[in-house]
Amino acid sequence: MKISELKIDDYEKVIHGVDEQTGLNAFIGVHCTTLGPALGGLRIWPYEREEDALTDVLRLSKGMTYKSAIARTGLGGGKSVVIGDPKVVRNPDTMRAMGRLIDSLGGLYITAEDVNTRIEDLEHVREETRWVTGLSLERGGSGNPSPYTGRGVYLGIKACFEEVYGSGDPAGRHIAIQGAGSVAQTVIDLLLADGARVTACDINPERIAQVKAKHPEVVFVDSKEIYDVDCDVFSPHALGAVVNDQTIDRLRCRIVAGAANNQLAELHHDDLLKERGILYAPDFVINAGGIINVSVEFHPGGYDEKVALEKIGHIDDALKSTFAKARAENVGTGRAAIDVAKQIIAEAKAK
Ligand code: NAD
Repeated sequence: MKISELKIDDYEKVIHGVDEQTGLNAFIGVHCTTLGPALGGLRIWPYEREEDALTDVLRLSKGMTYKSAIARTGLGGGKSVVIGDPKVVRNPDTMRAMGRLIDSLGGLYITAEDVNTRIEDLEHVREETRWVTGLSLERGGSGNPSPYTGRGVYLGIKACFEEVYGSGDPAGRHIAIQGAGSVAQTVIDLLLADGARVTACDINPERIAQVKAKHPEVVFVDSKEIYDVDCDVFSPHALGAVVNDQTIDRLRCRIVAGAANNQLAELHHDDLLKERGILYAPDFVINAGGIINVSVEFHPGGYDEKVALEKIGHIDDALKSTFAKARAENVGTGRAAIDVAKQIIAEAKAK
């Protein structure tokens, strides 16, 4: 395999691996290891150009640094991307080659599941490197992160209620869920149990049928209409960049809070939400439950669900202090969260 290093300002290490034998073409971005080894998922995507893959790995690895800093996981930020059609790339040989690329960094980067990767792919990666997390519980891993991410989002939504309405009680509140997938499932279960009302959408009819079978009271609307729902919370659980120039004026909510990564198309949408009196729960703060769960694999004695749940229980505190900072400095909550993360890293560097 040909491995080359790219020098990129503000990134500790970025490598490009090309393996002719297996067809692997991948980048690994290590943004920052000040707080610990750089952990972040392995994404498979049919990028049209190598530079698109590089842009993505840089953006995502920096996001992981901020997410882990605020969640106090003791980890840094990294990410990896494999270029190609998931149907072709998700094969044992290519995944093993990816394992060798990860191993070449000697533990600086630790991988996990992400878009288009499953546990079975990680098991092939694990054949070549020990720097893999999120394997099944039977194999000593922490398993599927989604219920933990969902629990953190639920706690975060309650923190938003407290900030906006003075009470964190979801009873009688109305939540509009975009994308009723695995994370949203937990959020829906918990909010309904508290007496909230849920409207949802999904592009997959099977998912709609599954949710309706469990909770007939959930009202489904067409996916294009979810932005127009008159509600307390617009909760994105599907795609990034859903708060953008086209959607922002349609939102009829007081809060934006959900699991999707990179919800704001651009940072200035943070300012626009503030102007409109909509509280934004920064995505990388509210959706940290999964990374917190995985980080517990590094505790002495290994993974322990009780420890994970206790740590996830602090996501609402992280959000509340972000809201307080944003209020005090009269800035958007997204900008405040980035500042909090940078400050945590700067303090660690200064020690
Ligand atoms: P998932 O694939 O299980 O669920 C996403 C759902 O969104 C699917 O049911 C899909 O059909 C639906 N969807 C896709 N496009 C849509 C559209 N245009 N309109 C409506 N619905 C649409 O994924 P997940 O694991 O539940 O993750 C949800 C989001 O949270 C993703 O953006 C993911 O990156 C992010 N996230 C997940 C975790 C985790 O632990 N799984 C952690 C952090 C962030």
